[in-house]
Amino acid sequence: MTDVPTLTEAKISFREAGKSFPVKGGEFTALDRVSLDVADREFVTVVGPSGCGKSTLLNMAAGLVEPTTGRVLVDGDAVRGPGPERGVIFQQYALFPWLTVRGNVEFGLKLRSLSAAERRSRADRAIELVGLTDFADALPKTLSGGMKQRCAIARAYAVDPEVLLMDEPFGALDALTRVQLQDQLLHTWTRERRTVMFVTHDVDEAVYLARRVVVMAARPGRVHRVVDVDLPYPRTEELRLSAEFAQIRNEVWHSVYHQPSADPSA
Ligand code: ADP
Ligand code: MG
Repeated sequence: MTDVPTLTEAKISFREAGKSFPVKGGEFTALDRVSLDVADREFVTVVGPSGCGKSTLLNMAAGLVEPTTGRVLVDGDAVRGPGPERGVIFQQYALFPWLTVRGNVEFGLKLRSLSAAERRSRADRAIELVGLTDFADALPKTLSGGMKQRCAIARAYAVDPEVLLMDEPFGALDALTRVQLQDQLLHTWTRERRTVMFVTHDVDEAVYLARRVVVMAARPGRVHRVVDVDLPYPRTEELRLSAEFAQIRNEVWHSVYHQPSADPSA
């Protein structure tokens, strides 16, 4: 008998993963048994109305929230907490104000047993990836919001995680900066091909970035639909303005904003 290798093993696998919180007189179901596979090197976005459990879902993969039902697996192993192979990026770029861009990026490497020279070269490479080389010695207070967020992204890249978990990372930025960072993120993804799970409430952003868009619904939080984005990479401005893009965006928009509610009282 020969072993048949599983060629399509998911990088991240939610298996009936649910989360309830205790509330007065019972339980509140933030997420109701979500089953979803994210393939190795895939770029998946998660979109849905506020409160539908997007952050809870991402935080379960990050190991910051423990599921109350089901399981969350990374590389086939149950997630038991945060780990260096999973980089997390939130909307608020928590940079240390007293450290330079390079200092902030190197900080994430301090816990690794790396030589100072290796830390430096890894940090500089990550800083280059996000286009901040000219600002490596600058302090955060001298940077724009977009640059601070790029610094936070570089800090995650420097650790070289296999999985990037991003929770509305561009949510606080103006529209133009957002578009620039989307292009830069895709450029980096094309080069490095990490698995990315990216939460957003912006439908355009969700479609532009992803190969698949997971549309969630609220009350209870659940996966409503998964929409394939059958558009080629690299994604370009031309594509963003194309009829094909508009069609998929409209489809996703419709599934986000015209959702049947599971709870008739909601
Ligand atoms: P989203 O990111 O889609 O806006 P969240 O995942 O943050 O949604 O939250 C989903 C639901 O779970 C919300 O109704 C939220 O109020 C609730 N929730 C999240 N975390 C907690 C918690 N620690 N205790 C109680 N309720 C929570
Ligand atoms: Mg959220």
